Amino acid sequence: MTESGYFTDGNGIGGLLEEIFAAEPTGAQRICQSCRAQHPTGAHRAYTSAGVVLRCPSCGDVAIRVSQRSGRRLVEFRGTWIFDAPR
Ligand SMILES: [Zn+2]
Repeated sequence: MTESGYFTDGNGIGGLLEEIFAAEPTGAQRICQSCRAQHPTGAHRAYTSAGVVLRCPSCGDVAIRVSQRSGRRLVEFRGTWIFDAPR
């Protein structure tokens, strides 16, 4: 916690991030950063070559880009992702 108490370091939200990344991703909805259309993950188009690119079904902009380098996965998420909160 900082002196001001307005924020913590990223470790302070470890549990929240663990919940989000453990959720079933194909059930999530995404609002596109370009066209603002909302679609479930499963409605997006996946293109594979050197990596994987998931694209918006309305405008084709990138939703997720996954590549692998030196045994690690590099993941870029774009847009707003909506996951159901645990009950
Ligand atoms: Zn779009």
